[in-house]
Amino acid sequence: MPDVRVRIAPSPTGPLHLGTARTALFNYLFARHTGGTFIFRLEDTDQARSTEAYELDILEGLHWLGIRWDEGPGIGDEPERGSYGPYRQMQRLERYTEAATRLLAEDKAYYCYCTPEELDAERKRQEAARETPRYNGRCAQLTQADRAVFEVEGRTPVVRFRIPANRTIAFDDIVRGHVEIDTNVLGGDLVIVRSDGTPLYHFTVAVDDAAMAISHVIRGEDHLSNTPKHILLFEAMGSAVPQFAHLPLILNPDRTKMSKRKSQTAVADYRAQGFIPEAFVNYLALLGWSTGTEEEVLSLAELVERFELATVNRAGAVFDRDRLEWLNGQWIRRLSADDLIDRLRPFIEAELAAGRIDWLPTDEEMRALLSVVQERLPTLSAVGDLIDFLFVKNLEPDPALIVPKRWDAATTAAALTAARQTIADVGRVSWEADEIEPPLRLLVEERGWKAGELFMAIRVAITGRPVSPPLFDTMVALGYERTLARLDRAIERLGAQAVPTR
Ligand code: GLU
Ligand code: ZN
Repeated sequence: MPDVRVRIAPSPTGPLHLGTARTALFNYLFARHTGGTFIFRLEDTDQARSTEAYELDILEGLHWLGIRWDEGPGIGDEPERGSYGPYRQMQRLERYTEAATRLLAEDKAYYCYCTPEELDAERKRQEAARETPRYNGRCAQLTQADRAVFEVEGRTPVVRFRIPANRTIAFDDIVRGHVEIDTNVLGGDLVIVRSDGTPLYHFTVAVDDAAMAISHVIRGEDHLSNTPKHILLFEAMGSAVPQFAHLPLILNPDRTKMSKRKSQTAVADYRAQGFIPEAFVNYLALLGWSTGTEEEVLSLAELVERFELATVNRAGAVFDRDRLEWLNGQWIRRLSADDLIDRLRPFIEAELAAGRIDWLPTDEEMRALLSVVQERLPTLSAVGDLIDFLFVKNLEPDPALIVPKRWDAATTAAALTAARQTIADVGRVSWEADEIEPPLRLLVEERGWKAGELFMAIRVAITGRPVSPPLFDTMVALGYERTLARLDRAIERLGAQAVPTR
């Protein structure tokens, strides 16, 4: 096997897309697993849509995931690295011109003077005649004299690469197996340079993959139909044809191709919602690949160790947010207390900024809460729902939420008053979950209530919400005085308001 050299070649025309991150990861895993080289190349020839902000988003997103490359362009503070540069296509323009000049000299490409109007008219004619749309080859055999006439008319030509008719291009894709594509479906001779001299994607990708000695092209299945064009270009340039591996599409739950219209596709948005990189990279690896065992929770190092291109699935990979959240929860549980507190801090600061809490918990307060919080976080941003009630001065729970089904306001107020007495009797000194629970259960039994109903009323009274960490732990976290004060306030509000029975 030649030296493994693989690349990711994103266009900085949008934020880092989940699909690009998955392709980057698979290239990275393959390179690291085989001791090869991983290259980052920026396909920035679409100058109108490319921005530096998108470049940075892509760089930061991949770094966040722990993906580093051996060769690549300078971006932000990252210096250019590698001896096959430059790694930005806009800095390689003379190389494309050179390659086009050679193809023209060898008559593997030619100048085409057709105007957009002429091409359009021909396309309509082909549609009407139900022919496969393709360039009709009108300029394929122009003489010098024919060209001179067009030049005098003021036409500026494009460069077309000759696509042979009636040939089958075959290749053995590492994921998809043997693939054969008929050259007659490729649309005829291919424009490789526009009339303004700028090169087009199929051409630049083949020139660069050849120049950078890429051994394996690992990319999304949406590129499968482009591959015969690239193979023909490699052959015409006298370059070795790399091996191909086309990764399965990532699908929405309705099995349509994942798009930002139906799904969240920007990696930065997942990060902002409190997915952690350990989980996200783990999940991306499982989009189209698995170890073949039950193992699901795998670190980047473990993924590098296990990953094989040959075991990538052919079938589309449905993006399953529930599974991602589950994995995220698994990874959050594995974090050390200090690490988790650090990662939660920005999310808690956001609660303060949004006015949902009145002050920030200290690290010590956070540490005390972790035993109830850590295993209940599907995302870091869920922390607010679990702890906000502790860090607000005044809680004004909605009386309608406090009153359990089948109870009315008066019954609830009376029950809470009895419960308040029982809780007060536990006392500050014995304030622990297994000291609070038994007397309350005894009370429920004596009165013939349902535990769930009383406990729900207490829960809403002290947290403002019908869902919280376990009730007795919650009371301990809140403290003796504040628990009693909140119960008093709830009883007061119930008494003051006429609450309709539900
Ligand atoms: N810029 C292309 C893309 O992001 C690269 C495709 C390729 O890997 O050849 O889809
Ligand atoms: Zn033409």
